[in-house]
Amino acid sequence: MNYQQILVEAAEVARATAGQGRVADYIPALAQVPAEAFGMALATADGELCGVGDWEQPFSIQSISKLFTLVLAIAHGGDALWKGVGREPSGNPFNSLIQLETEHGIPRNPFINAGAIVVTDRLLRLTGDAAGAVRDFLRGESENPSLGTDPEVAASEAAHGHRNAALAHFIASHGNLLGDVDTVLGHYYQHCAITASCRDLALAGLFLARQGSRADGSRLLHRSQAKRVNAIMLTCGTYDAAGEFAYRVGLPGKSGVGGGILAVLPGRATLCAWGPRLDAAGNSVAAMAALDHFTTATGLSIF
Ligand code: GLU
Repeated sequence: MNYQQILVEAAEVARATAGQGRVADYIPALAQVPAEAFGMALATADGELCGVGDWEQPFSIQSISKLFTLVLAIAHGGDALWKGVGREPSGNPFNSLIQLETEHGIPRNPFINAGAIVVTDRLLRLTGDAAGAVRDFLRGESENPSLGTDPEVAASEAAHGHRNAALAHFIASHGNLLGDVDTVLGHYYQHCAITASCRDLALAGLFLARQGSRADGSRLLHRSQAKRVNAIMLTCGTYDAAGEFAYRVGLPGKSGVGGGILAVLPGRATLCAWGPRLDAAGNSVAAMAALDHFTTATGLSIF
C-alpha cells in the first residue's frame, strides 16, 4: 500500500474544506492558530512513518490528552477507575453539566470534560504528577524531548474555565474527587495545553495499534485493556458526534478542540490529522474529511 500517496490525496480533500467550520475561541489563546493549517501523519505497527502538509507542526492537543490520561490511569491503577466514571456515550456536549447532576456526580465516560477531570484526579493520586506523566509518556513514545506545554494556553484555559471548575466542584460535592479541586483542575489544564504534532501523536498512539505494547517493546496495557480503550474511543471519542465519526471514518478516534484527531487502525497503524476549523460538535472539519478519505480509499477500517 502506498500510504504516502493516499495521504497526499487526503490532504487535497481536506484542503477543499477550507473556510468551513470555526476555530475554537472559547479558550482565547487557541484562536491564534493559522485557521487553514493542515497536516496528517501515519505510523505503522511495523515501523513505517509518513506525513503530509504541516504534519510536524506542533498544535494544542486539548482533549486528545484525555486518551493518554485514561490509558495511564488504567496502566497504573487498573479497573478501580471505573468506580468513578462510566463508559457510555453521553450524547451531550463535552462540557455539559446537566447529565452530571442526574447521574450523581459519576461522569458518563472518560472523554467528556467531567470524566476527564475524574481520570486526571485518579492519575494525580497514582503518580503525583498527572500532567507530567502524560507529557513524559508522549515524549518517550514520540522520541521528541522538546514536546512540551504551552503556558499561555494553560493560563488562558484556567482564566476562562468556569464550566470546568463548576464540573469539578460538582463532582467533589458527590465525593468523587480524591484531590483538591484547584490542583486537579491545574493538572487538567496543563495536559490539555500540551503541544504536539501529528507525527508525535501518531507515534504516541501506536501502542493501541500494537495491542498495548510500547515503542520499546514493554507492555503498557494488556491486550484486552487496549481493546477496551479502542472501544471507548469508538463510542465516546469524538464528542456527541461519535456516531457520525464511526459512520464516516470507521475507526476508534479521539479529537480535541485544537483541531487534531488521532485514530487507530488496530493491529496495523495510527493516523493523526490536524486542521483548526471545527464543526458544530467540536471536531475538525478538515481532519474528518481526510480520515474519511483515507478509510474510503484504502478500505482499511474496523468494519
Ligand atoms: N481543555 C478543553 C476544555 O476543557 C478541552 C476541550 C476539548 O478539546 O474537547 O474545554
